[in-house]
Amino acid sequence: MSSLEGKVAVVTGAASGIGKEIAHELARAGATVAIADLNGDGAHAVAAQIAQAGGRALGIAMDVTDEAAVDAGIATVVARFGGIDILVSNAGIQIVNPIENYAYADWKKMLAIHLDGAFLTTKAVLPHMYAGDRGGTVVYMGSVHSHLASPLKSAYVTAKHGLLGLARVLAKEGAAHGVRSNVVCPGFVRTPLVDKQIPEQARELGISEDEVVRKVMLGNTVDGVFTTVEDVARTVRFLAEFPNAALTGQSITVSHGWHMQ
Ligand code: NAD
Repeated sequence: MSSLEGKVAVVTGAASGIGKEIAHELARAGATVAIADLNGDGAHAVAAQIAQAGGRALGIAMDVTDEAAVDAGIATVVARFGGIDILVSNAGIQIVNPIENYAYADWKKMLAIHLDGAFLTTKAVLPHMYAGDRGGTVVYMGSVHSHLASPLKSAYVTAKHGLLGLARVLAKEGAAHGVRSNVVCPGFVRTPLVDKQIPEQARELGISEDEVVRKVMLGNTVDGVFTTVEDVARTVRFLAEFPNAALTGQSITVSHGWHMQ
């Protein structure tokens, strides 16, 4: 039997990049996976790919900053599959700018997607994990920027640090109900989110795009290699499969040594 057979997972931001690979990985482990994304068409497309590969999946259009949309999406998953065991709060965007030029609207948008989204999805799934002490596990997509700072990323660094706090509170509150909570902290992964940043960082830092890749993104790794979506998805699967609260309230960095805790 696959390790996550019979489990139901919700992965936000799973129409693209890291979330998409997590959805595939959890499905390969036997879980039924709801792919929740602002990009509804993309979510349905990933669900169709999983179904084609023999897994069970459902695409859901969801803006994680919209409480009504989150509650409706989670209710749909529960109505369809009978409960929720795993939440991967992964949806995110990046906006780079020095603080003095950082638009307040951009700051609020960043915090809304990364922090409000994590809070709202957590709040929506918990009653289903607490019911009958079903239990469950929540994984937040942090970043190496949950632990350190880089220029141009004030809102991102603030939000990713904030997720550590939310995860630790949930670890304490959820323990009595068998709910665990952890943060996965990737280094740079070549997804659309990072590809968009390369020319933006080159412009802001006054260096070439090649230097952004070699120095900023890979300079601190031990092997000059990008972290992959597979590296991150495997780590999320490990946390989802972990059987008890020995691992809760933790953050695990997956960065080829870019950052060492
Ligand atoms: P991506 O751009 O490939 O995918 C992000 C997904 O989130 C997209 O499908 C997008 O539609 C969705 N999304 C955006 N806003 C949303 C909203 N309001 N509601 C629902 N869905 C929304 O990006 P990615 O690189 O795969 O990033 C995924 C997560 O990993 C983010 O939280 C990001 O901060 C984190 N992360 C990425 C890297 C990296 O190097 N790529 C490193 C560390 C952490």
